[in-house]
This record gives sequence, C-alpha cells and structure tokens, in this order.
Amino acid sequence: MQNPLTQTMNNPFFKVAVVGSGISGAVCASTLARNGVYVTLFDSARGPGGRMSQRREKTEDGKELHFDHGAPFFSVSKSELLCLVQEWQSRGLVAEWKEKFGSFDFRTLKFDNIYQEGSRKRYVGVPGMNSICKALCNESGVESKFGVSVGRVEWLDDAKLWSLIGVDGQNLGQFKGLVASDKNIVSPRIAEVTGRLPPLDLKLVPELSAKLHNLAARPCFAVMLAFAEPLSSIPVKGISFKNSKLLSWAYCDSSKPSRSTASERWVLHSTAEYAADIIAQTGLKKPSEITLNKVAEQLFQEFQSTGLNISQPFYKRAHRWGSAFPAVSIAEDEKCLWDKSKRLAICGDFCVSPNVEGAIQSGLAAALRLKDSVSCL
Ligand SMILES: Cc1cc2nc3c(=O)[nH]c(=O)nc-3n(C[C@H](O)[C@H](O)[C@H](O)COP(=O)(O)OP(=O)(O)OC[C@H]3O[C@@H](n4cnc5c(N)ncnc54)[C@H](O)[C@@H]3O)c2cc1C
Repeated sequence: MQNPLTQTMNNPFFKVAVVGSGISGAVCASTLARNGVYVTLFDSARGPGGRMSQRREKTEDGKELHFDHGAPFFSVSKSELLCLVQEWQSRGLVAEWKEKFGSFDFRTLKFDNIYQEGSRKRYVGVPGMNSICKALCNESGVESKFGVSVGRVEWLDDAKLWSLIGVDGQNLGQFKGLVASDKNIVSPRIAEVTGRLPPLDLKLVPELSAKLHNLAARPCFAVMLAFAEPLSSIPVKGISFKNSKLLSWAYCDSSKPSRSTASERWVLHSTAEYAADIIAQTGLKKPSEITLNKVAEQLFQEFQSTGLNISQPFYKRAHRWGSAFPAVSIAEDEKCLWDKSKRLAICGDFCVSPNVEGAIQSGLAAALRLKDSVSCL
C-alpha cells in the first residue's frame, strides 16, 4: 500500500508542471515546493540553467574547460530580490564578482572609462552560473526531468487538468496547474526551426493570445576562448565595446570567484546586428560547424584588433543564442500572464525585463498565482 505522501505526490490534483529550468522556471518551481505544492519540472536541455547555463568543453588533448556562455553575471535592484540573492549567497550558490570593468572605444582604440563597480553589485553563480538553477531544481518537492522536451500541452476540460506530451509522443503526466517559462512554448518560430507546432495552442487561452503574438528577441553569438597565459595587457575583466559592428562585450570568465585558473578564459559577445546578419544568411536551423568557426574567427579577430596584445588562444568556439534578449516586456505590471480558470502561468524575462532580475520577478509572480489556486494537503 502506498503511503499518504506518495499518494498525494502521484495525484494530479496536487501537482503542477513547470516547463523550463531557466532562472524563472527554477525560482517558480522551488517557491511552489516551499509552499507545499508538488512540482514536476521539465527541460529539453541536458541540465538546468537555460540562458544561465555553463558549458563544459573538451580540448583535443582532453583538457576540460568551463564557460558561462550565457549571462555572465546579474544585478538586482528590488529589495525583495536582494533578500533572495542574500539567501543564495549564504548557501554558497552566489558570490560577488568584484573585478574592474571598462569601456573600450574602437574609434580611438583606447579605454575611455575604467570602473570598479557600477551602481549595483555584480553577482555570479558559483562555481558556475547554473549553480543557482541546479540547487533550486534539486529542492525537496521538485522532481526535475532533463532531456525531456514538452511537445504538446492539452487541456482536459472534463477533468480540468493539463496533460503534457513529449515530442516523441510520450505521456508526461497530468497536472492541476501549468507554468510555461519560455516564450517558445507559443512561438510560431519553433515550427521554422523544428518543423513542429508550438506546444501550447493559443486558442486554448484566447484572453492571453494577443500579448503572446510576435514576441521579438535579439540574437547574440558567444565566442569562448581559452589562453595558456593571462592576457596581462588588458587592465579590466569585463569590457563593453563602443563603435564596433561585431563586438558588444568581453568577459574574463576565469576571473570570477571559484573558477579554475589553470587557463585564462574569455567569452566574447557579438552585437545583435552582427548575429541577425549571420542568421539572415544561414537560416534559423542549428548553425553548421562552418558557420560557427567563421563567427569564432571573425569575433576573435575583432578582439585582437583592439591592439591589446591578445595572443592566440588554444581553444576557440562559438555558440549561437537565437533569442538571447527579448525585445518586449509583455506583463510589466503583473510580471507574468495568468489564466485563472485553467491555472496556467506564463513567465520569463520576456514578461518583465530582458535580464536575470526580470526573469526572477516573473517566476516569483507565477508561483504566487499558482500557490493560491493549487492546494496541496
Ligand atoms: C549571451 C547572453 C548574455 C546575457 N547577459 C546578461 C547579463 O549580463 N545580465 C543579466 O541579468 N542577464 C543577461 N542575459 C539574460 C538572462 O540570461 C536571461 O534574462 C535569463 O536567464 C532568462 O531566464 P528565463 O528563465 O526567463 O529563460 P531561459 O533561461 O531561456 O529558460 C527557458 C528554459 O525553457 C526550456 N524549454 C523551452 N521550451 C521547452 C520545452 N518545450 N520543453 C522543455 N523545456 C523547454 C529551455 O531549454 C530553457 O532551459 C544574457 C543572456 C544571454 C544569452
């Protein structure tokens, strides 16, 4: 005989599905779990983090290199979020990154400003940006399933439950509530990339559908570089570039707290215009190795043309973020979209602001809506 707790966990009337383990989905899932709601979280990726992921690369001679190839750091301004970040800091999931940053002008080939810290502290996950999501997805009450792409979500009107189906047709279970933490869940662009319809048919949520049409986003290429020797002629660890058509930022990943310093690792970020241009030439499908190599070389050459005495890296690889930064904020006041009758919350940075802070706010707002409508015991 099952014990009452297991019975409750297996009962769809007490469960919520969260699609996506980026920071909005992870914060939402852990907040729900802390409030007694059982959560099953799905992510198509092999691990948690979404755009706060950390990538593990292997060199030809077997060296392992780690790169935060998405968000390099984050800042928070809202007091309620500062409390949350302090809690993560006390759990050893987050640390301050206290290095100097500067802005470099390609017209003068000089730094025109070097600063220790902006008005806000810079935080990083430790030992990688994904550490926060990893910990939140492992909290008690959250069952996390990685490498599982949700292909379709259906509303069962008689049972008043959501039914989730994997891309391979697998039944992923039935749930009382649903949180969708990626705009791809409704994006028609998904069809161009995968040939499949988006998982959520907007006809199911007619009141929300107007807001979910055409969610534009800006792309970015990240180039991961590893050097045998430190780039000692660069006086800062984070650079914003002015007057470059190719480069927007560069960060010294290995200068963050709790990173390996066996090599010096930098991550370059392209401008959105450069990335959009490459995508216009090569299409939305997964970029080929030829395209990635070309991008890596072009962005590295631009970095070298600063004249900052940049040696050849022993490792160089590009990654494409097709939707790095949303160009819209569709729920600035409410922080998430909410359909009370179907207990559906849609959250993510595209609801609030195109950064980690916006995504956290949105995930918290989604949890608040759902916890009140899904009672557990
Ligand atoms: C290059 C780059 C630089 C950035 N720089 C900064 C910065 O300096 N500071 C800052 O604050 N922010 C920065 N950001 C933005 C920040 O990373 C995002 O705002 C934030 O991480 C978004 O979190 P999210 O949870 O909303 O979405 P995501 O992290 O995108 O999470 C969505 C998740 O849903 C999953 N998913 C989608 N569809 C499905 C499906 N059908 N089935 C299962 N899983 C699914 C995806 O795999 C993904 O893991 C940067 C982002 C990039 C890419």
